[in-house]
Amino acid sequence: MKNLDGKVILVTGAARGLGEAICRELSAAGAQIILADVRADLANQVADDLRSQGGKADVLTLDVMDEKQIRAAMEKIHQDYGRLDGLINSAGIDKTVSIDELEVDDWDCIMSVNLRAPFLLSKYALPIMREQGSGHIINICSTASKRAWPNASAYHASKWGLLGFSHALLTEARPHNIKVTALIPGGMRTPFLLDRFPDLDPNVLQDPKNVAETICFLMLMPEETVIPELLVLPIRETSWP
Ligand code: NAD
Repeated sequence: MKNLDGKVILVTGAARGLGEAICRELSAAGAQIILADVRADLANQVADDLRSQGGKADVLTLDVMDEKQIRAAMEKIHQDYGRLDGLINSAGIDKTVSIDELEVDDWDCIMSVNLRAPFLLSKYALPIMREQGSGHIINICSTASKRAWPNASAYHASKWGLLGFSHALLTEARPHNIKVTALIPGGMRTPFLLDRFPDLDPNVLQDPKNVAETICFLMLMPEETVIPELLVLPIRETSWP
């Protein structure tokens, strides 16, 4: 049974990695997926594949650093679909350097994609969700939202910030029957880690599909229940005690 039939869900960072896995799971459950990414080439390949399997998938070329693009995207979604049931903020970036080496521009970019974008996307999604009296925003945090390690200061700041923002957003969204969840994945086998750390043992990481299945579970929870925060770790997680 396709339980997400008729649901319209926007996924950022949809072109690869966790975002792609989320699109695949939610599409298999029947949702209309809007794949948002700067990498339109990759996003189109994923969307073509979803459609070839009978899914409903559209690509939205979107740089989440650009407020104007986000506002225009939300207006288009309102116009074209008339609703937005889910917003999954998965786009994320990092740069592995010390604070001494971290350029101010790098700090700004990381904060913009990882923290400012979920704020902007939520801000412009909320009116649509309030109008329909329902919705679910899922912010992809990280174990970096809970702990700290060297050479990731901007990433940590953005992800701790996103966890805080997610809880704050829930306090304002709840009265309108809108759910907000901070999903905290541990290490996953995606290009985000595998491209940057070729020596990393993939066996200590988890398949992003497992996290995507958890998101599908969250979207299918009974209407009266919300899970504000959820950790999903590989059993051999190295960055968690
Ligand atoms: P990834 O690098 O494989 O994919 C990230 C996607 O985001 C890419 O498709 C990229 O094009 C897109 N993106 C980057 N900047 C963008 C922008 N300005 N506008 C629109 N799209 C943009 O990364 P991933 O592993 O799939 O990570 C997804 C999320 O999960 C991120 O928020 C990341 O911080 C988080 N996370 C990842 C891991 C992990 O181990 N991979 C662990 C915990 C949390």
